Amino acid sequence: MLPSGPTLRHALVIGIDGVRFDLLGQDTTPSIWAFGQAGFLAPVTIDEATPTWSGPCWATIVTGAGVAGHGITSNDLTGHRLADHPDFVTVATRAGLSTLVAVSAWPPLALPEDGGPLFAEATRREFVARHERSLAGWDAADEATTGLAAGILAEDGPRLSFVYLGAVDIAGHLTGAGAAYRDAARAADRRVGRLLEAVRSRPSYEQEAWTIVVVTDHGHLDQGGHGGREPEVATAWAAAAGPGIDPGGPPAVTRQDQIAPLVLAALGHPGP
Ligand SMILES: [Zn+2]
Repeated sequence: MLPSGPTLRHALVIGIDGVRFDLLGQDTTPSIWAFGQAGFLAPVTIDEATPTWSGPCWATIVTGAGVAGHGITSNDLTGHRLADHPDFVTVATRAGLSTLVAVSAWPPLALPEDGGPLFAEATRREFVARHERSLAGWDAADEATTGLAAGILAEDGPRLSFVYLGAVDIAGHLTGAGAAYRDAARAADRRVGRLLEAVRSRPSYEQEAWTIVVVTDHGHLDQGGHGGREPEVATAWAAAAGPGIDPGGPPAVTRQDQIAPLVLAALGHPGP
């Protein structure tokens, strides 16, 4: 049955920092795996011109511009050209849509620190746990960010939301790509499941058109760390599902700079 009123388009992007592609599967990440079955889940090779650090990779993902455009080459965003290449949340906010940025523990995404914020404008901005250092602290910050974002998604349902979880990357840096890293990925996957469930719990869900993206920025070496061109580091991934995305069809994203156009197109915006 067709909805009686106009269908309101929504988008949710869940960014999980530093999750190796070879970690994904039914055992470790069942929520992400099942989500990919509803659309696509595919490896994304980081462009040769993009250092495999969080700053440049996330900047490319959220702006659709490469390093030559946004000008970010490290985790210090100072000197960026984001005014010329704004992030998708800022673009949507300026177009009059309600937006949310919910960020766990890495300041420059959300705050004017280290050259940030990456996200210039948002209707609502939530930043949980300033300057965490320990894995337990990051895990708690991710948990709090998830709870906060799930509540906002279920009740307010912003037209575009970006939720950032960072504990998996910290586990990789502190312990390498072993058991603790896998446990952190399991926890992140459960949080993805909670966010998806929050969206589906909306009383108006059946009358809404949701495009959802789950994406990482880079991988990790076996011993932990990134920044180079090793396949386990330079292979990121993205999953997406929603109207216009064929389940099991060819992936609509094979490059990091294709995500922002996909998100904005899903909202009916011509793009960056
Ligand atoms: Zn990262």
